[in-house]
Parts: sequence; structure tokens; C-alpha cells
Amino acid sequence: MHQRQTMHRLSTAFLGLLLLSVTAVRPAVAQNGSPFQVTHAGRFQFVADYRFTQSKQAGIELESMAQKLWSELMIPDKRTPVRVYLFSTQKAFSRYVRQHIPTLTQADTNRTAMFLLRNGTPYIFAVATSELMLNLRHEFVHVLLNTSHENLPIWLDEGIAEFYETKDGRQQEFSQLLSRQNRLFWKPSIGRLERLKTMSQLGIVEYAEGWSWVNLLMQGSTSSRQVIPRYLADLRKGVQSPSISERVAAAGIDAVGSWNQRYRSRRRRLATRPTSGAAK
Ligand SMILES: [Zn+2]
Repeated sequence: MHQRQTMHRLSTAFLGLLLLSVTAVRPAVAQNGSPFQVTHAGRFQFVADYRFTQSKQAGIELESMAQKLWSELMIPDKRTPVRVYLFSTQKAFSRYVRQHIPTLTQADTNRTAMFLLRNGTPYIFAVATSELMLNLRHEFVHVLLNTSHENLPIWLDEGIAEFYETKDGRQQEFSQLLSRQNRLFWKPSIGRLERLKTMSQLGIVEYAEGWSWVNLLMQGSTSSRQVIPRYLADLRKGVQSPSISERVAAAGIDAVGSWNQRYRSRRRRLATRPTSGAAK
């Protein structure tokens, strides 16, 4: 199981309501009674209910990630200012988001980070866990993607965020999960992910599979690496264009074959191994 509560975009259904709350809540006092402390690093404003001393370092790392997204995916960076709310405890985070976003479910408030975009203004809410930086990277990928693209497929939004939240793109827990999943009567399919329309349809397997396709395409041949950037470029133009799965098929990329090779389960490999020598 992915250890971290995976992050989600908030569905647009309640964004209006949320932003009203967010603009209304710039409280000088956090729920724990201590004042929010504000620090800045370039475009980032960190508003924390504790003494957050890593704003400069976080700003540098996030900017460097934005550069990477530009060089690898050609995602334009509008350099929109981002407000990041940080909470010292899960309880403070949950209480804050529940209070200001009444439409959130209990499960939503149990997350450790969230991203919100409304009228082009991005917000990130996060708990100060040991994975804070990873979570900030994840949510900032959503910021970069969603400030430049409309109608981004949710699986791709999450797949890219999962891929870039780590510096090398690896997600060991996902790899293990997919190898286990691949033993069952289950087949990887970009087309199936493309049919998912709401965040509630994305479980841990869908997050893992979304990450795996981004990983596979971005680490493949030249034509494979062009699929996502070109798709995003067409999305920005707002024209009807082929889906990722259609592009993969048109480019003659054997994505499922590569996928199966990468995530073929250990058990299956053992089963297909020649049985020379007597088993005892
Ligand atoms: Zn996410």
C-alpha cells in the first residue's frame, strides 16, 4: 500500500465554495492558537502554524522541478504565485480544511496534502510530515499542469504528479503493487484509465498504473517520450486531438508488451522458468 495518503485535486464542483472560504480565511491565528507565520521564497508564500524554516530550500527545489517539467514535457510555466498552507499536525490540517471546505468528506480531510485552483490562483495545503517535500512536489506538479491545461485527464494529472514527486521518477511501492496486480485477471490499459472521470474512481491501483504509464513513456524511445508532451501541447491549443492511447497505438509503440515485461510478476517468471534439475 502506498504509505502516503495519495493526493487529489479537489473536484471543480465545490471549488467556488472553497475559494470563497480560502479568500475569507487568511487568519492571523492558527487553530492551535499560535499565529500563522508567513515566509516567502520567490513565487511561494508559505503560511505555517509552526516555524517553517525551509522555505528557501523548498522554493529552490520546486523551481528546479518546474524547470525539469519544462525541459521534459514542455509545460509552460506561468510563474503564478502559489500560497502554501502548512500544518504541524494532521489534526490541525483536517480541522482547518473541514472548517473552511464543508463539502469535503472525512476521507478528504485525512489526506496529508491538497491542491486547489480557482480563477487561476493555486493553493496547496499540507501537513508537516517527513514526506512534506515529496508532497509539495506532487501538489506543485498539479499547479503547473492545471494552470496551463484545461480538461486534463485525471489519470494523467495524477500519473505525472506521481512521476515527478520523486527526483528519479521511481515509486517502489507502486512497482511492487503492479507486479502483484499483474498476477491476477487484470490487464494494464491506458484506455481504461482514460474513461475515468472523477477522483473517486481513482484508487491506489489507478494511481500506480497512471504513474507506470508516464514512467514507461517518458523513459522509452524518442517517439515514446514525445507522446505526452505532444498531447499536452494539443490540449493547450484546445483542439480535439487523439488520446494518449490512440497516439501510442498510432506510433506503433508496444506499450502493453513493455509494461508486461517490466511488471511481470516474480511468481510468473518463476513459473515460466525451465525446470531443469529435480525439485526436492
Ligand atoms: Zn495528486
